[in-house]
Amino acid sequence: MKDIFKRHPRYPAQREKFEALPDNLWIRCPKCQELVYANELESNLRVCPKCKYHFGLTARERIDATLDEGSFHELDANMRSVDPLRFSALEGVYSEKLEQYAEKAGTAESFLYGHGAIEGEPLVFGVTEFKYAGGSMGAVFGEKLVRAIELAERESLPLVTVSSGGGARMQEGTVSLMQMAKTVAALNRFKEQRLPYISIMVDPCLGGMTASYAMLGDVNMAEPGAYIGFAGRRVIEQTMRQKLPQDAATSEFLLHHGMIDLVTPRAEIPSLLGRLLRMYVTSKASSRREPVAQLA
Ligand SMILES: [Zn+2]
Repeated sequence: MKDIFKRHPRYPAQREKFEALPDNLWIRCPKCQELVYANELESNLRVCPKCKYHFGLTARERIDATLDEGSFHELDANMRSVDPLRFSALEGVYSEKLEQYAEKAGTAESFLYGHGAIEGEPLVFGVTEFKYAGGSMGAVFGEKLVRAIELAERESLPLVTVSSGGGARMQEGTVSLMQMAKTVAALNRFKEQRLPYISIMVDPCLGGMTASYAMLGDVNMAEPGAYIGFAGRRVIEQTMRQKLPQDAATSEFLLHHGMIDLVTPRAEIPSLLGRLLRMYVTSKASSRREPVAQLA
């Protein structure tokens, strides 16, 4: 297919024009198609200054964009997936793919967690790394998320997660599907302690992720224009044999239909989280409920 374009008389000239620019100088916005100066995009938290399209962030960029500077202390950073099924597919052997994912993403797994703070309020923060196997949920993802939940529970801290991924990691078969039940069970224990959980869904948030922990926040929020749902548009349309509305499964559609509570631009998320966390701290101080039980 690429060869067809290479031979087309119109394209060589265009390619030459763009190749003359340094790779990292201009980035084309996939929504408005405008060229955006890379430095301008970085200083704008990777949001298109022309149409407000929210580009994806790595887990580290998300930490920088959300938490107080230098407040994040990662835990279990070296926990790695194994290959329980000795799975191999056309694209390669899973155990070897894991090495490639880690190299590409610069993280040992698709989920990172640790202590952090927002506007001085301490919390436990978990974030997916989409570059690692599409942010998919395998056994280690599930285990790390449960550890994050249990850490927040032990220390009576709020929990905030930022999720973007394609759902269960199919290379781990049923083991990956079990992570849905495992994380939900841990969250239910967490909620019995009346501790707050805020879930932020960012583009794209799909499959087992949306069908389990990501939709269970006391506050469920999303960035503008994020695709959030169980299956992708094409799969739904093929199964249902009907066209979906143009904006189906976007943050705004979900907000309009009561599935989420807030749609918040990236730049406003830290101050909003700060307000929500302060509300929790104030209400906790004024309530007379029993002290939170410690986990055995
Ligand atoms: Zn744009």
